[in-house]
Amino acid sequence: MRLDYFIANATKLSRKDAKRAIGKGQVELNDQPCRKASVQVEVKDRITLDGVVLSLPGERYLMLFKPAGVISATTDSQQPTAIDLLPVESRRGLHIAGRLDRDTTGLLLLTTDGQWSHRVTSPRADCHKVYRVGLGEPITETAIEMLEAGVQLRDESSTTRPAGVRVVADQLIELTIGEGRYHQVKRMLAAVGNHVVSLHRIQIGEIKLDTSLAPGEFRELTPEERNSVS
Ligand code: URA
Repeated sequence: MRLDYFIANATKLSRKDAKRAIGKGQVELNDQPCRKASVQVEVKDRITLDGVVLSLPGERYLMLFKPAGVISATTDSQQPTAIDLLPVESRRGLHIAGRLDRDTTGLLLLTTDGQWSHRVTSPRADCHKVYRVGLGEPITETAIEMLEAGVQLRDESSTTRPAGVRVVADQLIELTIGEGRYHQVKRMLAAVGNHVVSLHRIQIGEIKLDTSLAPGEFRELTPEERNSVS
């Protein structure tokens, strides 16, 4: 889609005013001013007008309290999926922004907006995720230091980015990470000689799992929550 068309659709501006705003340098495409109205924009692009991130109207944004035992997928012929927890009429076009393992519980974001979900999941966007991690062994000072510094995972070429660790109890920590590598939390804890016995995501960026939701329940994000992902 052309940039001016996107701006006109995402705002109340006419196509002509959208072109004018682009010409005046009010629009940024992926953090760079863009003065070319005809440039083609894609799902992964971050587009701002006067510093405000834009999204197309009609897009939907939900949080779901994912229970254990469902997979983070839109369809599966064998196993129940997170999407199966939503009423049929509200499933259309939704995809998951940041998957969880089958046995992991907690905050799952679903949206129809590909640009938004890209910002949630892209390691470059640095949208941090917070997990409550139940451990098989008491956490040690050495393990905390290693997690905070970044650990080497098996079969990976680079170490993990420095993580945040908050000790809740001997065998319970809150771990904050900025990436989403495959089974990252479980592999990080294995790399420091421990193992995960329970995993629950409580936060993505500024969006916290609503404590009034029971496992399997969902709600629409508020405009503030939606706009907090930039
Ligand atoms: N890290 C994991 O190991 N599993 C998850 O489900 C999420 C993060």
